[in-house]
Amino acid sequence: MRILIHGGTVITFGSPCRVLEGRAVLIEDGRIARIAPKEAIPGPFDRTLDATGKVVMPGLVNAHMHFYSTLVRGLGKAAPSANFQEVLDNLWWRLDRKLSLDDVDISAEVVLADAVRKGTTTLVDHHASPFAAAGSLDRIAGAVRRSGVRACLCYEVSDRDGQAVTDAGLEENAAFARRCASEKDPHLRALFGLHAAFTLTDATLDRAAVLGRDAGVGFHVHVAEAASDVAYNLQHHGLTSVARLAGHGLLGRGSIAAHCVHASEADQELLASTDTFVAHNPQSNLNNAVGIADVLGMVRRGVRVGLGTDAMTVNMLEEIRVAMWAQHLRQDNPTCAFMEIANTLFARNPELATQLWGFPLGTLEEGAAADVILVDYHPPTPLDGNTVLGHLVFGISQATVDTTLCAGRILMEGKVLCNGLDEAALAARSRELAVKLWDRF
Ligand SMILES: [Zn+2]
Repeated sequence: MRILIHGGTVITFGSPCRVLEGRAVLIEDGRIARIAPKEAIPGPFDRTLDATGKVVMPGLVNAHMHFYSTLVRGLGKAAPSANFQEVLDNLWWRLDRKLSLDDVDISAEVVLADAVRKGTTTLVDHHASPFAAAGSLDRIAGAVRRSGVRACLCYEVSDRDGQAVTDAGLEENAAFARRCASEKDPHLRALFGLHAAFTLTDATLDRAAVLGRDAGVGFHVHVAEAASDVAYNLQHHGLTSVARLAGHGLLGRGSIAAHCVHASEADQELLASTDTFVAHNPQSNLNNAVGIADVLGMVRRGVRVGLGTDAMTVNMLEEIRVAMWAQHLRQDNPTCAFMEIANTLFARNPELATQLWGFPLGTLEEGAAADVILVDYHPPTPLDGNTVLGHLVFGISQATVDTTLCAGRILMEGKVLCNGLDEAALAARSRELAVKLWDRF
């Protein structure tokens, strides 16, 4: 399959994020084969896409997501929560215990259809369904394949529901990681999922460390999301959450620590020295009133900080705007951290995806995966390498994604999904299952 995208302004992401005018993008066999003037690329082509009046950029990467939260939208039954622990007790842990495999499946498919619409083509998910754990990642993998995007999956192991559920979660991670390694599907990758240090015993952390190492995957865990996580680990183990996880060998180059809102300076040094990837999720942190992570401090200490949404949205350009405003508030400085925040989405997330997938992903360059989006955008001020990040955060973030490709396959064209997913039918099925889930809640 040879596809030529021409007539648009190319934005590359990466560092530096470049702007290329007068260039066409040739896609061959799922990869970006050439970026050159249109006249320099000989035909024939199976398809040509005219990107006039559009910017052509890489598909976006979400570094921390929970597909399973879809059916909670509008659920009004949870009791008011005064703090993060009560949010978990009153809502999320009540919900995930009631999820069936069918709920898991539809939750993922609905979100993934929306991800195509928003131009997010790679998602790192963290899944929990304690009483429907076995086979859950396979069901999500099926939804990922049907949608045509890429996802890195894991199961959230926790000791909060007893030994049998812990064992099922450990096994689900190990089984899915083995399957991923043997099948080598370029749309799927695995990490080993853990809930958070405050719901895990030392014995479970040690078992996870061995299983994850044997499977050859890193870990994906919530870290210091709320002050209560740190307080619990200090009280019961004499260590911060970061130090305790590091002590069990769970941090490192292949691992993702989500949140790190309450990472101390020493914790930040440890995250840097272990080369652990931090996924910052500002909308969720603001919503749960747990605080705003010190992204500026972490980056200055050498931590790789990327951007997730924690299921608040699949629209990464919405999330980065909030990240910008929140960091200004956190640092009490309205002009700080522009590059540090911009780099989370446009440089660090592509690096994470490239590391997880093992080939260039998330940047628009020759040889990279052909995950590409076309966005309607007429720049009202000069658009070049010096201004592109401002355009992305303040302008392109407000524009509409027109066309989405992943692995060289067109998933949406002219704002119409063409990956085979019927959004109306999916939503109808989702509403049916939501009513039943809410009854059980
Ligand atoms: Zn999360």
